[in-house]
Amino acid sequence: MKIEVDGPRLISEIEALAAISDAEAPAVTRIVFGSADLKARAWLKARCEDAGLAVRQDPIGNTFVRWIGSDPTLPAVGTGSHIDAIPNAGKYDGVVGVLGGLEAIRALQRGGFRPRHSIELLVFTSEEPTRFGIGCIGSRMLSGTLSADAARRLKDNDGASLDEVRERADVRGELEAVKLPAAYYKAFVELHIEQGPVLERERIPLGVVTSIAAPASLMISIEGSGGHAGGVLMPVRRDALCAAAELVLSIENAARSSGAVDTVATVGICEVFPGAVNSIPSRVRLTADVRDTDLERRDSVIEEINLAGDVVAAKRHVSIQTELLNADAPATCAPVVVEALSESCRKHNLNFLPMVSRAYHDSLFMSRIAPTAMLFIPCRNGYSHRPDEYASPEDIARGTLVLAETLAALSR
Ligand SMILES: [Zn+2]
Repeated sequence: MKIEVDGPRLISEIEALAAISDAEAPAVTRIVFGSADLKARAWLKARCEDAGLAVRQDPIGNTFVRWIGSDPTLPAVGTGSHIDAIPNAGKYDGVVGVLGGLEAIRALQRGGFRPRHSIELLVFTSEEPTRFGIGCIGSRMLSGTLSADAARRLKDNDGASLDEVRERADVRGELEAVKLPAAYYKAFVELHIEQGPVLERERIPLGVVTSIAAPASLMISIEGSGGHAGGVLMPVRRDALCAAAELVLSIENAARSSGAVDTVATVGICEVFPGAVNSIPSRVRLTADVRDTDLERRDSVIEEINLAGDVVAAKRHVSIQTELLNADAPATCAPVVVEALSESCRKHNLNFLPMVSRAYHDSLFMSRIAPTAMLFIPCRNGYSHRPDEYASPEDIARGTLVLAETLAALSR
């Protein structure tokens, strides 16, 4: 079978989807269940039905687009990504995996391929955390990582519950029904832009992802004692910001000394109270984001941060409270899917790089219920989540070709 990707059509579809946006071009904004997102869903559904595919939506709005295999009783081979976009984002994040997935299916249809396992394109609801403050809602629920009860407790930025938002969007059904049955998928593959600079720098057109790093985030509250910047002398001070400064460097050091390049830690927020030039800081709030590809190593960094907090608190006579806000487990990609992707690259004489996904994706959660891996294509300067995000038509077509080849191999 010869697989021919219709590159120009795929690019024109990416452009058409980018035009369905709440922001002015070239920026793209599509907030889950907002007007642009709903319009984009309808547009996409029509494209899928044009290809003769069966479209269904689950109660959280995940969309399943199925090409029924010759043995429909077998588990399906899945591919897909997301079409929601953070405010002022670009055209390619998520979209390449969705429209590339659709074009991969059409290319296989045109080539006369007949899958034995059904091939299913999956479009996830709310990969981005913009509206509900938590990312990957669709895939978390499919994998049972987020329960229906916990989902019902989510509120959007305006205080509306998930159920209220769903109802307004006309997305219906019991949330309990979202979780997929065991062995629903034989394998899952997500095509995505890299969102980092490695492939471009190495001049390698494709990345086969072998593991997906996952973040844990901490909120750290430091309570000292305030006072007049002139009146309180140094020996009796309990300055919360000086304590925070020591702790921030300890957090950096905990990641640097983990023994692995994959460990990273970032303090991204530092709020100082009362925040006046002549007032000793009495209270500081820090956030820490710790990521790794190895769960044990990441958790040992968190443990080290907790210990450093105790040491700084004792030394500086302040109180330090650490709250773990979120801790997803990293994933190791399934060797069988990694090998299918690698073999498809070789078959088309395309060079590829085994790599780590440093951002997390819906695949992180799919990996808990299906053998999963990802395929990366380069993006210019590694830019993503900004209007000048760019992937070349050649790279998009190559990614789609390898995806099609891989779906064929896995569905035979
Ligand atoms: Zn994405």
